[in-house]
Formats: sequence, structure tokens, C-alpha cells
Amino acid sequence: MSENGKIFIFDTTLRDGEQAPGASMNKAEKLRIAALLDAMGVDVIEAGFPGSSLGDFDAVRAVAAATRNSIVAGLSRAVRSDIDKCADALKPAKRKRIHTFISTSAVHMEYKLRMTPEQVLSAVIDSVGYARNLCDDVEWSCEDGTRSDRDFLCRCFEAAIQAGASTVNIADTVGYTMPGEFIDLIQYIMNRVPNIDKVRFSVHCHDDLGLGVANSLAAISAGARQIECTINGIGERAGNASLEEVVMALDVRRDLFRCNTSINTRYLSEASRLVSEITGFPVPPNKAVVGSNAFAHESGIHQHGVINHRATYEIMEPAEVGAAQSSLVMGKHSGRHAFLFKLKELGLNLEENSLERAFEDFKHFADTRKSVSDEEILALAEKELVFDCGAALDLHSVVVHTSKAGATSVQLAVTKNGRVEKVELLGREPFTVISAAFQQIFPNHGDLKSYDVNLSCSGGSAMASALVKLGSGALAAEGRATADNTFNAFSKAYLNALVRILNRADIPALS
Ligand code: MN
Repeated sequence: MSENGKIFIFDTTLRDGEQAPGASMNKAEKLRIAALLDAMGVDVIEAGFPGSSLGDFDAVRAVAAATRNSIVAGLSRAVRSDIDKCADALKPAKRKRIHTFISTSAVHMEYKLRMTPEQVLSAVIDSVGYARNLCDDVEWSCEDGTRSDRDFLCRCFEAAIQAGASTVNIADTVGYTMPGEFIDLIQYIMNRVPNIDKVRFSVHCHDDLGLGVANSLAAISAGARQIECTINGIGERAGNASLEEVVMALDVRRDLFRCNTSINTRYLSEASRLVSEITGFPVPPNKAVVGSNAFAHESGIHQHGVINHRATYEIMEPAEVGAAQSSLVMGKHSGRHAFLFKLKELGLNLEENSLERAFEDFKHFADTRKSVSDEEILALAEKELVFDCGAALDLHSVVVHTSKAGATSVQLAVTKNGRVEKVELLGREPFTVISAAFQQIFPNHGDLKSYDVNLSCSGGSAMASALVKLGSGALAAEGRATADNTFNAFSKAYLNALVRILNRADIPALS
């Protein structure tokens, strides 16, 4: 693709992203993020604002020294001392950029800068010219550009280009503009500013009205060739345009934009997790591209579609963004197709009647929960395997008492062909004692090989799930079950495994 089709990705997670309330990062954390941005092919890493604090100066310097491929940029106000600090911090960088900015809107000039437009214009010329003497690569930004007078904006762009800026950026600092209006403004600037075709045009969009990504993409169609963005869209207030969304929109809709980026999209999920972990900002499950539900399907109609052909309800492959496989989230909207698909995935084959009963159980169970886990589905289906073998076996009760000294007593009662058989045993470790009690009722039908018991809480109620593995000669079998407590879950799972062994061992009917 030609140079004209390349969109430069300028990541400002470490600068604007860090300005998100509560997102401060230390030097070590910035280095971890920068290393990943460098590896994923970000063109420019804005590492910080060296003039703002000693800590940030230090962090920018460290990122500058450690970065291999990306250009490292530092931000500075249109003040010579700021620009000096920025150039200092960037010294160790292989490739560096000084990014200097000033506000151009009437409200900012009057109330924040307390400068006249003419003073702002001379500050543009002075700051860009000064920076250009310290660094070959200078970017100039108009802060609050989208609320600035168009003709004044054009004069500032012209001055910045003349003073030596090679990238000029318009900031929608307060997330105010609309996509159509933004295209119009950029075209106006492109048509009026001399030599604007000799520099790279950039945009910096905020998400106050949820339009950060939409405005960035609109700008590309108007000729912008650099997008300033952040991982997970973090940044001041509602945040910035999110890098992963911009990059994937350009990738998925290559047919429309006819542009490319140098981002290796397989890093996107990892970058999202890292930034979330470091800032402590969770990624919402419904976040585009990197949310945990971005490739999850729950409704029966969608699950049926995805099982038949992924493209029915997915426009990207999870692997393209480094996410785990598409998942079928089993819940009350899931249909028979998905249930059967899930059972096969879990290695279970039920005959038709059992399948029907298991599916009914599943629907009842799912109605009371947000979702149904694989373990819970296995437990529902295992019950049907007990049915299949025809052995009328069931857990009647299991009572466990452990003394302060650590002695355990177990009373186990199992229903065998309608009769209850009871055993009482003493020992120490509860699950071992329960297992020994089973051995007394079913001698020579398998030893406990391993087990796993988990207790989880969801929706205010506790649920225990257990996996029990039994072996008997060459035979081995697993049983799973869920129950309201760990001893019940273990005992039911034990019984399920036992039934599988009985089923396969051709052992005479139970007496
Ligand atoms: Mn910003």
C-alpha cells in the first residue's frame, strides 16, 4: 500500500491516558506498557509531559532509552523552558518527537491563556521554531481546535508549518465535534493552508459524547493520516478515541478506507489487559474489540448461527485481536443446538431421551442464573448417565462431623434398588473417609485416584462442584456433580463415577 494509505498510530496512553482521574502510572509501569506498544508496532509513543513533574521527566527519559522502533514523543506547552525539558528527556531516544501545543479557541485564549490571538500566533511561531532547533521531528497541536475560529485556525496551521512542524494536529479537546462537521472543518483547512500537503495531518479526539472513534475515522476520510488514541480509550474525563477500535475498524473495513496501519492486531487483547491491570480501570464486558463478551454468544438464534458459520454473527476472528476462541455462553436463551454442541465439546454423548431430559433440566436451572458453567452442564448431564446405566443408585445422605482434634466421623447412606444401605466410619481427612465408606458398600468397584472440589458463590447462594476419578483394574471413570455443599457434591460425583464403572465392567446386577 502506498505511503498515502498508511495511517500513523500515535498512542498517548502514557500521557493523555495517564491524565484520566486515578490512572497515574509510575516509571516501571510506563516502561511495561511502552515495551508492549513498541512490540505491537505503534508509530509514536507519547510517553509523558516532561515539564509537568520530575517523575514524568524521569519516566519519559526511561521510555526514550528503552524503546527500539517507535518514535518517542514528549508533550510541552508553547514555553521555551518546557521545550528544553522535553528535549532533555528525549535525548536517549533513537527516534524522537517534540510535541508542542497551545489553545486556539476564544474561550481558552481569553480565560485560560489570557492572551490575544496575535500573541498566540507568535507563540506558535516561537515554540515550533525553537523546538525545531532541538529536534528534527516536531508536531504542533491546536488545543480546543474544534471550537476555534476557522480562519484563525488556518493562520496558526500555516505558521506552524512555516516554522518547521512536520505533523500538525487538531484536537477535539472537549469531544464536542460531530463526524460530518469535523470532515467539513478538516477539508476547509486542507483547502486553505499552504503546504499542508507537505506535512502529516493528525487528529486527537475525545469521547465526551461517545464519538472519539467515529470522529477519528471521519477525519481519515477527510485526509488525516495520523490518529492519536489510547489503549482501552482511557484519558481525560470520558477518555480518548480507543486505539483497538480505530485499528480494527480500519482493518475490518479495508474495503471502505483503503488504508493500513503497522499495528500487529494480535497484541490488542494483551495491551488492553495490561493497561487495565496497571491503571486499575476494569474493561467493561461489552467493550468493543477487547471486552470479555466481544466474542461471546448467548441467544439461541445467534448460537445456532455461529455453530453453523462463524461469519453469521462475527465480523472479526477472536485470534486476530489475540482473544481466546468465541464462546457460547450457556444461559436461559440458549437453545437445543448449543446445548448439544456444548455436550459434544465436553465429550459427552447422550441418547435422545436422556438428552431431552438433560435439556429440560438445563432450561429450569438456567432460568434462575445469569449463566451456566461447563461444570454445571456436566453435572446435569452426568445425572442422565446414571439413568442410562439402569442401576437404581442414589445418594441418600452423607453426614460429616469433624472434632476440634481433627477426628472425622462419616455417616454415608446410599439407596440401592430402593433399599437404603448405611455405613459409619471414623478417620481424619473427610473426603478420604467418605471414599472409604463407599468402598465398604461397593467393595472392589474402584479406588479413589484423585478428586477436585470447588466451592463458589453466585447470586448469593453457594454452590459446590466436584470431580472424582476412580480406577478399577484397567477401568477408570470420572464423575462430576454439583450440590449445596462440598460433601454432597463429592459423594454424588463419587457415585456418578462408580455408576460408570459398574456400567462398563459388566458386573452382575447389584444385590
Ligand atoms: Mn487530550
